[in-house]
Order: sequence, then C-alpha cells, then structure tokens
Amino acid sequence: MSQAETSYPSIQLLIANQWRDATDGRSIDVRNPATGQVIGQVAHASRADLDLALAAAQKGFDAWRRTPAQERAAVMRRAAGLLRERADRIAALLTQEQGKPLAEARVETLSAVGIIEWFAEEGCRVYGRIVPSRNIAAQQQVLKEPVGPVAAFTPWNFPINQVVRKLCGALSTGCSILVKAPEETPASPAELVRAFVDAGVPEGVVGLVFGDPAEISSYLIPHPVIRKITFTGSTVVGKQLAALAGAHMKRATMELGGHAPVIVAEDADVAQAVKAIGSAKFRNAGQVCISPTRFLVQRSIKETFTRELVRHAEGLKVGNGLEAGTTLGPLANPRRLDAMQKVVENAVAAGATLATGGKRLGETGNFFAPTVLDDVPLAASVFNEEPFGPVAAVRAFDDIEDAIAEANRLPFGLAAYAFTTSLRNLRLLSQGVEVGMLWVNQPAAPWPELPFGGIKDSGYGSEGGPEALEAYLNTKVVSVLS
Ligand code: NAD
Repeated sequence: MSQAETSYPSIQLLIANQWRDATDGRSIDVRNPATGQVIGQVAHASRADLDLALAAAQKGFDAWRRTPAQERAAVMRRAAGLLRERADRIAALLTQEQGKPLAEARVETLSAVGIIEWFAEEGCRVYGRIVPSRNIAAQQQVLKEPVGPVAAFTPWNFPINQVVRKLCGALSTGCSILVKAPEETPASPAELVRAFVDAGVPEGVVGLVFGDPAEISSYLIPHPVIRKITFTGSTVVGKQLAALAGAHMKRATMELGGHAPVIVAEDADVAQAVKAIGSAKFRNAGQVCISPTRFLVQRSIKETFTRELVRHAEGLKVGNGLEAGTTLGPLANPRRLDAMQKVVENAVAAGATLATGGKRLGETGNFFAPTVLDDVPLAASVFNEEPFGPVAAVRAFDDIEDAIAEANRLPFGLAAYAFTTSLRNLRLLSQGVEVGMLWVNQPAAPWPELPFGGIKDSGYGSEGGPEALEAYLNTKVVSVLS
C-alpha cells in the first residue's frame, strides 16, 4: 500500500457545505487502535458551530423537501458512484482509525454504495393514497411528507454503515440531516459525507459535527429545528436520548445493544454452522450489535461444536488490519480490552471453562485473543451483558423449547441465529424467538431492502426496507369537499 493511500487527513466539520475547523479551534486526537499512536485530529464543535449547523439544516430542509424525488435520487446515485471510485482509499482510512481488517473495511464501504442506490430508488416510491370518500363530493388524500431536519448520532464500530443508513433514510424522503459521527473514527464518515457534497447535494442538506457526544445530543434533541432523532449505540445511552426525545415530542429511531443467541440443534450441519457463525462471531472483533454471543448447542453435539469453534478461533490471524492476511484486528480502544478481561475472569470465576484465548495479545495496540468459553453458567456476566468483543460463550441445552426460553430470557431483542434442518424446530423458532431479525442456517445478511432493527431493550424503528423510509415521514390527511 502506498503512503498516499494510508495518509490520514485532519477532519473538519461540515456546515452549509463548507469544511471548516471548530470556531474556537478545538480538536480531539484520533488514535490507531492497532498501534496506539495518534494519527490525526478531528474538530470539536462548540455551541456556536452547532447553531450554524442547525440554521443550515433548516435551510437545507426547505430546499430539499421541494426537490423532486427523481432529482434527489440522481444526487444520491452520483454520491454512490463517487464512493465506489474512492472505496480503496476510504477503506484504508477506516482500517487505520477503527482497526478492522482491510477486507472488512472494503465490504463496509462498498455495501454503503448498495445502500445508497437502494434508498435512492425507494425514495421515488414514497406514495400516498386516495381513500374512497363517504361523500361523493369529497376527495380524501393521504400524503407522506418529510418529517424535517434530523439529528443522527452514530458509533465507532461501523463508522460508515451506521451513518449511511440514517443519511439515506433522511435524504430519500426529503429530510435534511445533521450527523454527530464518532470522534474515534471520524475520517471514514467524513469521506462518506464528502461524496454527497461532491455529488451536488444542496447546502445544509447534510451536516457533520464531532465533539462531546452528551453535550451535542443534549443541545440538538430539544432544539426546535430538529424534528427527529436517530441513534445507534448502547441501550443505556439510547434510553437517555429516547427519554429526552419523548420530553420534547420528537420522533425517534433507536438501534441499541443486542445479545444474540445462536441455537444449534443436533440435526444441524455442524461444520456449516461453525463456518458461518464462527466468521460472524469474530467479524469486527465481535464489536457488532448483531454479533452472535450466547451459543446454545444441543447436548449431543456440544462437544464437537465447541471443538470446531475453538479450531476456527485458533485459525484466525490477529494483527494490524492493514497487513495482508489479517482476519482479526484490534479492539477499538483500551476500554474494550479491560472490558474483555473482566468478562473472561468473571465467567471463569463463575465456573466456565476457558477453551481458548482469554487474554490480551502483545503490549502494543488493543489486541485480544479470539476467545471461546465453554459450559458457561447463566449467572456469568457474558451471558447477561453485551460483551461487544471477540468472545463466544457456549452452553448445552436439551430441548428446543428450553433454548428458546433462554434466548428470550434477556431484555434484548435484536438478532438471533439458528441452525437446524427440522421443520418443527424452524416453526418453533420463527414463532417463539423475540427478536427483530432471525437468521437461520446462515450468518446475517442485512440487505438494504430488509428491515433492520430490534425490539425490547434493543430499541425501536428500522433502518432497512420501506420501514426505514416511513421513519422519516409524517402522514397528513387532506380531505377536500368541492
Ligand atoms: P458508550 O456508551 O460511551 O458509547 C457508545 C456510543 O454512543 C459512542 O459512539 C458514543 O459517542 C455515543 N454516546 C455516548 N453517550 C452519548 C450521548 N449522551 N449522546 C450521544 N451519543 C452518545 O460506550 P463505548 O465504550 O464507546 O462502547 C461500549 C458499548 O457501547 C458497547 O458495550 C456496546 O454495548 C455499545 N455500542 C453499541 C453499538 C451498536 O452498534 N449498537 C455501537 C457501539 C457501541
């Protein structure tokens, strides 16, 4: 890889289509999690910057809502094209700031292209309806209108994907959007946004700020310009932001934490299950809201399954994501390393067996060994709190009903996985598992045309499928008597 491809830019705010430093000149260091080194700075927005960004978002909304859907789609398609052209460079930035292997960073960048293209088309299909009237002299219309300027808050684990789904929901329906992207991983979302600016999105339709997350959200959410908020992150923070949105009667979409169960029945193809779910578990070092976490395996195959999962984990190549062949990168920050150490210690103290991994690797960077814990008691923290790291926790079950009850025991309800060839199991799982997404005999395939979202403590709303556009639309009835 050439120097140019890996050089890391200074990240600015985007306000009214101008890239600019913070008014008061403040900035925050950005570190490479593979080396611990500071690689750049990101501008830290002040209140004055937020006021400018809010005024721009209002102006952007006034223009964009009057832009025909076909024209909006054309701008979005141009942005998708620019992103595709720039994908290699953007993926290299993403790996440097976030740590994931370059191949995963490329997939994230290129899948954003597909997401933009799908939303661009779908935005042209936002139809209202005509409802037959009880009075022949009246015409009753149901209109769909953009909700208004949106404030979006996104995390560091999928810095492009989390922004692009929100950006596209807003832009395809005629809303403007002000994104508070992650300070830890600012370059890749900035490049995503740059593609839209370069594609000709009008001034103020997209804004980008960084700074103190709590300070920014507590200012933007109650602000009268903002009509909707959308957040991806932990359940704890999501509940705070949803409460604030509720207090100010703002629409909200909440994509929060998960604790995905993986139910492997004895009739499943174990080799296929391990291949699919092993890769899914360690993707992005397990820092994924839909990461498989609680492995519930039917007793007769549990030993074989665990042995194969351990073999898979031990076959991973841990290292700097920019190096060829790396399949597991570092954790995003030192906080996550400490969290993983605690998760493992707690499980072992509770009686689990450490089948592989369980420790930090090396002294430089945030590398943690891919870890499999076996025979994990229900009381262990890993079976209750989202580990958000490269840790798989296995335990046996006897009946499928017990596995489903365990899957539903936690307050989360985002994703679940199952491996089975039995129709009866499939029926019981489809009807019984309380989640927003159930993937059977496969890893997650969250295409843009499918709803993406959770229930219970995992939040509400969807970031895929027609439901994702509905979240940015108001419904208005116009009944005309003439
Ligand atoms: P954290 O809860 O401090 O931060 C999570 C994300 O929320 C970050 O992007 C942060 O900037 C943002 N955030 C925090 N407080 C905020 C506020 N008041 N207003 C607006 N945004 C706010 O935790 P962390 O240490 O960065 O991550 C650890 C936990 O966060 C993980 O264990 C996981 O549960 C959760 N998380 C979930 C996702 C997801 O995709 N659902 C992504 C990242 C982190």
